[in-house]
Amino acid sequence: MNVKRIFCIGKNYADHVAELAHLGHTPDGECVVFMKPASCIVPVGEPIVLPRNVGSTHHEAELVVLLTGGDRDVAVEDALDCVAGITLGLDLTLRDLQTQLKNKGKPWELAKAFDCAAPLGEFQPYLQQDLQALSFTCHVNGSLRQSGNTAHMLYSVARQISILSQTWALQPGDAIYTGTPAGVGPLVPGDQVVLEGPGLGRYAWTCT
Ligand code: ZN
Repeated sequence: MNVKRIFCIGKNYADHVAELAHLGHTPDGECVVFMKPASCIVPVGEPIVLPRNVGSTHHEAELVVLLTGGDRDVAVEDALDCVAGITLGLDLTLRDLQTQLKNKGKPWELAKAFDCAAPLGEFQPYLQQDLQALSFTCHVNGSLRQSGNTAHMLYSVARQISILSQTWALQPGDAIYTGTPAGVGPLVPGDQVVLEGPGLGRYAWTCT
């Protein structure tokens, strides 16, 4: 199944919300919903072309779920029936630009929806494993940058699906980037990024 729409959940791990507080990103306990076009996807094996002259590009390692559909008004208790697959991805973010946009109350697309903004691993079948007990890491050039566990999400995957279904009729091929834990940081040309997690796979990209 190809990804047709990418939904992203922001501010979903308290430790990440806290690490951005100094940029004026206020913790309010509510998640943020935004989208990226599917054209942002960078499959494994293709280079991540970093934007130039727009400040820092940060890696945000995230669990990504692929949906079978679900339509509207999915109840939280039924939501995981909509999950087809799971993997890891990067919600790449132009952090300096995002901070400027946030502080001006402007939309985030310029900072979140640029070409190559959504490196994506290969979906593994969802086998009813506990989606709130998955650990994953992000290494850059062999150094550990992010280490997260979905147990620490503020909004569970089921809750995210239910929330999205209040606004969109969920379709096969919808994917959700479910938020990032602490440890986000800049990428520069030449960096090698590796995402890895038990049951989720291991995926590497090179930045240019
Ligand atoms: Zn994110």
